[in-house]
Amino acid sequence: GFGALGPGRPSFRPPQPPQQSAAGLGSGSAPAAAPGPQPGNGQQPAFGPEGQLVLPEPLAMLDPKIVDNVFNEVLDRSAAIRWEDIAGQEAAKALVQEMVVWPIMNPQLFRGARAPPKGLLLFGPPGTGKTLIGKAVAANISATFFSISASSLTSKWIGEGEKMVRALFALAGVLQPSVIFIDEIDSLMTQRKAEGEHEASRRMKTEMLVQMDGCDPGSGERRLLVIGATNRPEELDEAARRRLPKQLYIPLPCAAARKVMLMNAFKRGSEVATALSDADIDKIVERTAGYSGSDMKNLIQEACQGPVRDLFRTRGNVTDVAPSDLRPVQLRDFQMASKAQKRSVSDTEVERQYAPVA
Ligand code: ADP
Repeated sequence: GFGALGPGRPSFRPPQPPQQSAAGLGSGSAPAAAPGPQPGNGQQPAFGPEGQLVLPEPLAMLDPKIVDNVFNEVLDRSAAIRWEDIAGQEAAKALVQEMVVWPIMNPQLFRGARAPPKGLLLFGPPGTGKTLIGKAVAANISATFFSISASSLTSKWIGEGEKMVRALFALAGVLQPSVIFIDEIDSLMTQRKAEGEHEASRRMKTEMLVQMDGCDPGSGERRLLVIGATNRPEELDEAARRRLPKQLYIPLPCAAARKVMLMNAFKRGSEVATALSDADIDKIVERTAGYSGSDMKNLIQEACQGPVRDLFRTRGNVTDVAPSDLRPVQLRDFQMASKAQKRSVSDTEVERQYAPVA
């Protein structure tokens, strides 16, 4: 647990300490702490005289086990995502940058009527890059990225949801600027009145609303941006909508985006060789209409297994196989793969739930 952390396990190292925030982000933050053990200096975790971890004040008041959970399971340390890693979604990428990245880069410009929204809602079919966009925003503003699914708050952290939410926002505040990505936010902020809505989940929801109200991504004390994502925007209640005033539809990837995904997988210098002609690529693009980004990723992975499977069939093992022994990936590998990986989102689903509100 957190309490057991000692200098021997220095895992509490913020990915981007607040002092190292990107240029232009410094305004409004606490003065940079001097390096070295300085227990109680307000923001940074530090080590006490006996080498024990001293948590900054906002965390010291919380249940250490819960803070530990947030630190280990919600704080996302995976590789940064660049905008160019996200195929297509050009309109969304441009809007997100305008709405939330610019204001954080230069808060001065975005005051009053230009003030940035406190939160952003990304909606659309699953597997289209909503999480990627959240991560790209975080990377772009050198923010710490927290990612949690709201349904895990109600299921996995049963009964502790309220505490988790409080700890999440406290830790995000300590490691600010932060982006808090809440997937399946509809499951938490639903307008459906669940029969006998649990007292615990009602309190968790209230805590979430209160915490969201305290966020101020542009400037000031709490540079936290909440990004909610949902496949069922119509289920969100009024309170959630008000706090996520900017709502962006993230559609299934268009043909050009699917082509980019294919080209990226096989671009020069990539590990996998192909013998796909331009016509083959176009055929794949055409036949993958309706595939999500994540469907595309799985399809490509499956197709790339084709040459390995073939070789295994003749040799009986793959131990002594060099990459150069494999034949290049061909159109027929995609034809095979498409039997295993079909599109996961149906047209009816797209029309019913995701059509942008005119
Ligand atoms: P969502 O949050 O919309 O459900 P994700 O962002 O988690 O979807 O996407 C899941 C995976 O699918 C990503 O990790 C990535 O591999 C792939 N993917 C989805 N959309 C795109 C995209 N636009 N460009 C590249 N890869 C994508």
